[in-house]
Amino acid sequence: MRVDISPSDLDCLTRHTEACWPDEACALIVGQYLQNQHWIVKRVEPAKNVAADKSRYFEIDPELRIKVEMNILLEDDEIIGVFHSHPEGKAFLSENDIKNIKEPNLFWLIASTSSGKLKEFRAFIAADDRNFDQLTLQTTSTAYGD
Ligand SMILES: [Zn+2]
Repeated sequence: MRVDISPSDLDCLTRHTEACWPDEACALIVGQYLQNQHWIVKRVEPAKNVAADKSRYFEIDPELRIKVEMNILLEDDEIIGVFHSHPEGKAFLSENDIKNIKEPNLFWLIASTSSGKLKEFRAFIAADDRNFDQLTLQTTSTAYGD
């Protein structure tokens, strides 16, 4: 059960998270699902958070979702995950996150921050309606997709 992600994609999410702070940052994650709960991230697509209360919630800009869906029609890649940050929170799914999981096949990557600086990333996948498995985040030096 693991997600392979390059340092440059993690850097991109770190910069996006810190730029959005104290609001929640969000992004779409594009890549491939191999098998046995193993995903490879090819790229991340930082999104505008269009939630009404950005300091507590996130909602990915639907225009970005459409753009990404169009771009990947010609590739073998797909949307494999959703990223968002918890300003001053923990890198775990909140009650509200769990309520809002509409696409259980996507993994959730969460970043926690402290005083605007990134603290840690954790990834989860739904096991059922209420339970989640934590995925190992494997930082790869190979930049897939470059
Ligand atoms: Zn959350």
